[in-house]
Amino acid sequence: MKQADLLYTGKAKSVYRTDDPDVYIMKFRDDITAFDGEKKDTLSGKGRYNAEVSTFIFRYLEEHGVKTHYLESIEPGVIAVRNLEMIPLEVIVRNVAAGSIVRKYPFREGEPLDPPVIVIDYKSDAHHDPMLNDDLIYALGLATPEELDQIKAMALTINELLSDYLDLRGITLVDFKMEFGRYNGEIVLGDEISMDSMRLWDKETGTSLDKDVYRYNKGDVMETYADVAKRILSPP
Ligand code: 5GP
Repeated sequence: MKQADLLYTGKAKSVYRTDDPDVYIMKFRDDITAFDGEKKDTLSGKGRYNAEVSTFIFRYLEEHGVKTHYLESIEPGVIAVRNLEMIPLEVIVRNVAAGSIVRKYPFREGEPLDPPVIVIDYKSDAHHDPMLNDDLIYALGLATPEELDQIKAMALTINELLSDYLDLRGITLVDFKMEFGRYNGEIVLGDEISMDSMRLWDKETGTSLDKDVYRYNKGDVMETYADVAKRILSPP
């Protein structure tokens, strides 16, 4: 498989076509952004850690029957993925109240959310990722009711699998964001699941082990990413 032209470049990843129309190459860059792109930096090695963790999580999910876009790792920071027809939704599952829902609603930071809460945002920089509801998703033609049911069911399954896995490694999965696409008529998990897209707290100390370290200047971002990648990839 040969890398061809650049198809898309986002805030932290670039996607390239290949000589196989069904396969794309996804490069995890060292760029990191927060607050709708207002805060930006480049942190050497970040892309590699996010690719490593995403790869590991995609493989773990596949082993547990979840369909993902992951095909193979090419080199550190670079993976081959299936060409999905992406659905522009940011599907967030929340197990503990933190981040934007604490700012927007009367939740206490750290309050458990049982059952988990699914929040779906419209992935659109131009509109600043506004929150959607089911009717808006249908009215905008983003997904059918059957697809949305499937997306929510998959999101909850993935949440259970990941929460259990991380819990054994002393990490609370506070919340995380997923993106889905269509492939041969099926809903498939795409994008990444990494320290950039999960909110992770150490179970004992409550310290942040994710992009919040960057967002809120809570410590050394690369040290945190390196440590958490090691914890996620190691046996409990
Ligand atoms: P919040 O709504 O509290 O800002 O984010 C909830 C969760 O979704 C966090 O784990 C956060 O990292 C993730 N998330 C929300 N929006 C985005 C986004 O645009 N990009 C990425 N990578 N993660 C996001």
